[in-house]
Amino acid sequence: MTSPLQGEDRRFDSAPAHHSRRKQKMLGQNFLIDNNIAQKIVKASSIEADEDILEIGPGRGALTELLIEKGNLLAVEKDKWLAVVLKQKLGKRAQIIEDDILKFEIPKVDVIVANLPYSLSSPILFRLFNYEWKRAILMFQEEFANRLVAKPGSKVYGRLSIMANHYVKTKKLFRVSKTAFQPQPKIHSQVVHLVRRDPDYELADFATFERVVRSMFTHRRKKIRNCLKLDFPNLDLDDLDNMNERAEVLEPKEIANLSNLIYSRISKETL
Ligand code: SAM
Repeated sequence: MTSPLQGEDRRFDSAPAHHSRRKQKMLGQNFLIDNNIAQKIVKASSIEADEDILEIGPGRGALTELLIEKGNLLAVEKDKWLAVVLKQKLGKRAQIIEDDILKFEIPKVDVIVANLPYSLSSPILFRLFNYEWKRAILMFQEEFANRLVAKPGSKVYGRLSIMANHYVKTKKLFRVSKTAFQPQPKIHSQVVHLVRRDPDYELADFATFERVVRSMFTHRRKKIRNCLKLDFPNLDLDDLDNMNERAEVLEPKEIANLSNLIYSRISKETL
């Protein structure tokens, strides 16, 4: 296994003393040290000349070094030390910003590439959906990736799959062994390809959709009727379709239809 980080990159290791192992853990700093995997991720991004790229958490630059060869790169890193060293190293070849991606106002970009800090996968992913971009190649922990791409009938199909499906089409690309990182995480990773698109349904009210999805999957072994009764006790829902099914068999489109019917009943109730 070859490291893309040799020689001068020792600067990354000379972080000030307050840069504790605890802080590295909090920031999910498992750095990619396998250059073949870095190349594979960048190749899968299919970046065309002059495309605008956002990298989240460039870390020690394993992906960054390859991405700057492909297009106009903006990279947002929360760790001040890493951001300073990367800025020194890359100069004007990329725009490195020291900031928290959960607070940073993301400009319009074509493609997002990231090996995400695992504990923030969900908040970062759902924040990204508020901004404009076309596709993303993101590395997640395997278990998260499986839930993200799951289809109806799968044991791990649930809230994450349905809410993400509202914004993107997802596809698992390849698995990355935990040995490709330093320090090694406990679990293997997966690279996922996401493409923005509109859902194949119309929603009367997004908040009701979210509420229905949460309700149906909080008790996923119960019949849908019994789940919804707990969260919408004043509504008579017995005549609706699929009430005897379990949530995990319904397509997002069917859940959207159900949420639209529930919303129209809520609206009538409050008239
Ligand atoms: N891209 C590098 C690689 O593949 O080796 C580093 C990946 S490491 C899993 C995650 C990176 O995200 C770290 O550099 C960490 O400091 C950074 N990070 C963590 N939380 C962040 C946040 N809220 N905003 C921006 N960067 C963050």
